[in-house]
Amino acid sequence: MHMKKTVMAAKKRIALVAHDNMKAELIKWARTHKDKLIPHELMATGTTGNMINKELGVKVKALISGPLGGDQQLGGMIAEGKIDILIFFWDPFEPMPHDPDIKALLRVAAVWNIPIACSVSSANFLVSSPLLESEFERDIPDYDKYLQERL
Ligand code: PGA
Repeated sequence: MHMKKTVMAAKKRIALVAHDNMKAELIKWARTHKDKLIPHELMATGTTGNMINKELGVKVKALISGPLGGDQQLGGMIAEGKIDILIFFWDPFEPMPHDPDIKALLRVAAVWNIPIACSVSSANFLVSSPLLESEFERDIPDYDKYLQERL
């Protein structure tokens, strides 16, 4: 696949997802980094988003709940270029009924080369980066070029 450059704005669109056993950890993390997160546009799968809204009083757009299709919704938004960063505290100890959706979300996030954090440590690295508050150029698939070669 050919790649091309795209620029993320300084104000990021950050998606937050936590499986049930990880929700307390994500809420704690979001509380710790509330000031860093507030300037950005936040969205989350349904239950995660509503819990962050309630616990932190931070405006988070709550999408469809993960097991009901929210992971696929986020994956679609990543492919459409509508999400810049994914914070996804998935549960490494429990099998999930929507495991194929989780894999698909992580795959699409890798395809579109967005920053992903799946643990508190990586999420801490991510929010401490100066790139969180500045424009950031990244490579993404160049589908137009791919198509040109095939038509
Ligand atoms: P939820 O979805 O925030 O609606 O619980 C998260 C998930 O299970 O993927």
